[in-house]
Amino acid sequence: MHLQIDHVIPFMGEAPVSLYISEGKFVAGPSGVESAGSESAWGVSSVHGATASGSAHLRLDLPGVLALPGLINSHDHLEFNCFPSLGDRHHLDYVAWGKDIHARYKPEIDAVLRIPAEGRALWGVYKNLLGGVTTVVQHGLRWGMGDLAPRGSAHTPIRVVETTQSIHSVGLEAHWKRRLNNPRRWKQPCVIHIGEGVNEIAAVEVERLLRWNLLKRRLIGVHGIAMTPAQASRFQALVWCPASNYFLYGKTAEVNRLGKNTSLLFGTDSTLTGSWDMWEHIRIALQTEMSSEAELLESLTTKAAEVWDLPTGRLTPGYDADLVLMRAAGTRPVDPGAEPRGLHQLYSEDIDPGARPYGLHPLSSQDILLVLSRGNPVLVDESLFPVMAREGFSFDSWSAVKLAKNVKYVQGDLPALMAQIHQFDPSVQFPVEAVVPYPNAAGAGPLTPSPQTAP
Ligand SMILES: [Zn+2]
Repeated sequence: MHLQIDHVIPFMGEAPVSLYISEGKFVAGPSGVESAGSESAWGVSSVHGATASGSAHLRLDLPGVLALPGLINSHDHLEFNCFPSLGDRHHLDYVAWGKDIHARYKPEIDAVLRIPAEGRALWGVYKNLLGGVTTVVQHGLRWGMGDLAPRGSAHTPIRVVETTQSIHSVGLEAHWKRRLNNPRRWKQPCVIHIGEGVNEIAAVEVERLLRWNLLKRRLIGVHGIAMTPAQASRFQALVWCPASNYFLYGKTAEVNRLGKNTSLLFGTDSTLTGSWDMWEHIRIALQTEMSSEAELLESLTTKAAEVWDLPTGRLTPGYDADLVLMRAAGTRPVDPGAEPRGLHQLYSEDIDPGARPYGLHPLSSQDILLVLSRGNPVLVDESLFPVMAREGFSFDSWSAVKLAKNVKYVQGDLPALMAQIHQFDPSVQFPVEAVVPYPNAAGAGPLTPSPQTAP
């Protein structure tokens, strides 16, 4: 399938660009777009004739709309996203927090754990998708949603990275030394929560981990609140999770210093310790003033792609077409009274000049208009839905949910998933409401109970 998106503005950019997508990749200009008329896997019936800028099965003209590479969330526990944030005080470290919540919130924890873990993990995938994440790095259990899963399958609308070795932590994983020094894992990066706390124990465990890294494994640390810049230089990367850190400890890693010595990535962690909404995490990160918007976006795209060794994170020919289009501050819908420039123009070229250059602030998940995962649309805002449907894009096996004021269409049956989760625990709070009935939403298979795993 070939997709052409015209007049969008890249992050921090001034000049509008056209994006060309073919076979799941960004491709170079018209010459890179194959000729029209080839068979499409997803039922596009109308093919636009060749124009000066090439030909495409689906062409969208979106002046002023912000284009970002699909975001990479480098740390989540997918199956823990049905939990509310648990805790009402700051703790000294993660061991203390764990003990506290298991003592005080046992009924709440047990209720969520009654939901089959696969269903919770699938909701975790949708949580990420709704925030514009096209790649999420799972910590802990493996769900078989990784790169071996069928591309674009309804159950994996986004990429789930499950190919790393996850070790929980020095404090809570009994056999961490043996697992870290397993020679068969030598080539794999080891991802571990580290320095997660504000006490001496959290500081000492960073040194312990480094001392015990006998095979000189590539280490990717998560949190690093107690990490020093010298220690940071011995990690391949550090995943910064500021929302989780402030919620649990009232303090976060000194990423302005640590980021000079290691690759800084960005993670949300699960809803146990923060909002479902990636853009709330981004807002909190920017408030620290320890990271510029450009540095933050790098940590969510290019740097993360390099560390996880993925062909994504850039709007560049040859890279996977993972893309987020957002309604930016200067974006204006086409005036209904005006003559549109073309059939596919939804936004006006009359962009508010005061709104440039386009940055990340103050965007929100509501502003997301389109998410592509490896070239496949996986989330579409209601403002784009009619044009795409008219042009023959098949929304079979899609569903609709309402996020605040906007309806978002997503691949797969999210309302059915939410209903199934509510059968097990009606108290789970979702940020979206089901829009029903929605035609063509294929029913998902029923959830079946599975072994429980405690947070
Ligand atoms: Zn974590």
